[in-house]
Amino acid sequence: MALKIMILGANGFIGSALTSAILRERDWEVYGIDLADNKLGELPKDERFHFVEGDITINREWVEYHVKKCDVVVPLVAIANPAQYVTHPLRVFELDFEANLAVVRHCVKYGKRLVFPSTSELYGMSPDAVLDEETSPLVYGPINKQRWIYAASKQLLDRVIYAYGVRDSLDYTLFRPFNFIGPNLDNIEEPKEGSSRVFTQFLSNVLYRRPFKLVDGGRQKRSFTFIDDAIECLLTILENRDGRATRRIFNIGNPDNCVSIRELAERTIRIAQEFPELRDAARATEIIEVSAGEYYGKYYQDIQVRVPAIQAAKRDLGWQPHTDLDTAIRRTIEFYVKLGSFDPLNAAASGL
Ligand code: UDP
Repeated sequence: MALKIMILGANGFIGSALTSAILRERDWEVYGIDLADNKLGELPKDERFHFVEGDITINREWVEYHVKKCDVVVPLVAIANPAQYVTHPLRVFELDFEANLAVVRHCVKYGKRLVFPSTSELYGMSPDAVLDEETSPLVYGPINKQRWIYAASKQLLDRVIYAYGVRDSLDYTLFRPFNFIGPNLDNIEEPKEGSSRVFTQFLSNVLYRRPFKLVDGGRQKRSFTFIDDAIECLLTILENRDGRATRRIFNIGNPDNCVSIRELAERTIRIAQEFPELRDAARATEIIEVSAGEYYGKYYQDIQVRVPAIQAAKRDLGWQPHTDLDTAIRRTIEFYVKLGSFDPLNAAASGL
């Protein structure tokens, strides 16, 4: 019998890419819910995709009924954007922790497999140069640095899920995304500065001809992972052949794509110039430095470097990432160009 997968947040960055890959590459059924369907394109027309527009904090009966009905539950509804950790910390707690705890408990009650997004943010300011799922310490700043409410919420949920695994044999996998980038990450036409994650913020700045702002000089490093690589890993986790992913934690990241934010800015400008639509704007883009306090306010604290250990995924899932950073940047820009996101830029340039 074909697997029935429930995806909460099916219209999100990961949810939409995962739904699309499942329908394309597997014969599984997907039951999805989200607030909107703008990233799903034609997918809702697929007879194996059962999608409803709704809010998991309101449509609770739908959620419980479908946990009961499905084999695997993938709760992807969350705020995962540092700008919002400092502006809306309680909203982050209520959605990322409280709403998801209810779903976790349904999985325990009905004995369903849970594939849950932990986060690379969970390692915080860990002193380890390479972050390991089983051994790295998780290190956060003081309470007045509200940025850490996201990591702390996620950490507690990881611990709760782990404990349900020990006590009730809950069948779960925790996965930790490391700066996924790709089509549909954020809406780059969103004019508000500081509302997106760094890469889409840069693309938005090209569109609006604004300078790239490097927080504290852009020396901090991230390992950027192309969404298609990540989705391949998630399909293997969902498949869970011989229970290889059961009660395990996996980093999903690309250590070969670890660069400073300054390097990301320079590469984005260079690669954007390959696209005729963006050439002039990209060439004219300035890079300036701002302090973290100016950019995010006093509740922010940064992470200097974040490199995943991926031996566990390599060894036990047979997975490894393939997409280098330039290709990931190029394919993402290509997507937004095709979508028409940069059209206002050309209208402005031609005086329309
Ligand atoms: N950042 C930056 N300029 C921007 C937006 C973000 O220099 O316009 C920095 C931010 O301070 C952080 C890094 O880029 O060090 C990555 O930020 P992002 O919001 O993508 O997520 P994070 O990796 O911190 O979860």
